Amino acid sequence: MKNYDFKAISDACVKCGKCIPTCTIHTANPDEVTSPRGFLELLGAYDRGDLELDKNAKNIFESCFLCTNCVDVCPNTLPIDAMIENVRYDIAKKYGIAFYKRAFFWFLRHRFFMDLAAKLGYVFQTCGFKIKHELNSMKPRFSLPMIKKDRLLPSTASKSFLNSHPPIIENGGEGKVGIFIGCLANYSYTDIGEGLLEIFKALKIDVYLIKEQVCCGAPAYFTGDFDTVEYLARKNIAYFKEVLAELDAIVIPEATCSAMIKEDYVHFFASRDEELAKQMKELNKKIFMATEYLQKHTRLQSLLAKKQAQKELITYHDPCHAKKMQGIYKEPRALLAQNYEIKEMSDSNQCCGFGGVTIQSEKFHLAKKIGDKKADMIEQTNATYVSAECSACKMQITNSLFQNKSKAVFKNPIELIAKALRA
Ligand code: SF4
Ligand code: SF4
Repeated sequence: MKNYDFKAISDACVKCGKCIPTCTIHTANPDEVTSPRGFLELLGAYDRGDLELDKNAKNIFESCFLCTNCVDVCPNTLPIDAMIENVRYDIAKKYGIAFYKRAFFWFLRHRFFMDLAAKLGYVFQTCGFKIKHELNSMKPRFSLPMIKKDRLLPSTASKSFLNSHPPIIENGGEGKVGIFIGCLANYSYTDIGEGLLEIFKALKIDVYLIKEQVCCGAPAYFTGDFDTVEYLARKNIAYFKEVLAELDAIVIPEATCSAMIKEDYVHFFASRDEELAKQMKELNKKIFMATEYLQKHTRLQSLLAKKQAQKELITYHDPCHAKKMQGIYKEPRALLAQNYEIKEMSDSNQCCGFGGVTIQSEKFHLAKKIGDKKADMIEQTNATYVSAECSACKMQITNSLFQNKSKAVFKNPIELIAKALRA
């Protein structure tokens, strides 16, 4: 099902070319067909029936990183990323979805089995991987079909974040928030959730773990598996409606999950269930990225101002789903600047190169090219930490830094803020 009129949007492109120098895939593969303008031309031809979705077209449409750089600079704000997400649905219908992706999405739909798989993963991961505890990562001992043995992947925590705490944590009652944690932070990067708990404790705000939450659906959305997206989104929306009646807010320390829930759910249901899209818009008033909520709606900034300066230099990477999709970039910097010196990298907006499940598996050579550039940019700052409020960025940048032998370490701003509070 198409949410967008491909032909009309393609016709609205004035061919100015402003999008091309900013395009992530065009940087890695400088060809007009892999550029926003080229994608639009092809999408218009597809809508008119002049382009068949053959393997070549599939390959082209699956190479977009969905970074939204093009939308940001386009004078007509043409929704190229959303159109690519839509055409991937047609691709998935025609070619099916690879077995390993279907299995992954099945686990995302079934929390109980995902918890079980994560537990087994934790027990057996040392058989096939060397664990790098300081990076929450693991390195394969031998090359796998799509994963070379020098690549770092997220390791599994001994217990998921949601299963490590009671459902309600009372801290003094100065407020009541729910945490939507995101799958990577739940199963691997658990220090993010732990940091958030420390921050709310310092603020005397009670925390609700809202344990019935399910994956936001972003990995499936970027792959064209709209059945999984609909299943997960409907579950989350019904649950948010129920819990938000009692809470001040739901906070999300993850740019991609937050953008998916706040922006993409609304677009997704606009043509499927108008009433639900309207309800989601209303719920969004109480759903925030974590640093946005903490900076604008709590006394955290003044609390941090009373804490001592930290000696580490940091640089901040702007996740595409935070700055471009949600306009959030000042808030994490305002909080971090209370205790850390921030040195900006030459282009904090350049996509890290994560790109989604297909790019991380079948097209990793593209992710690597973009990741190497980001690692070089980070290295130039001489920072101890690179920070970004996004675990997809963490996964990609941690590997890029490792490949490039950089000493910088990735931390979510929540982890760095919690560290400053502890001092
Ligand atoms: S979303 Fe990013 S990679 Fe895709 S066309 Fe736009 S700028 Fe290029
Ligand atoms: S910036 Fe917008 S209008 Fe200009 S070429 Fe790119 S997509 Fe077309």
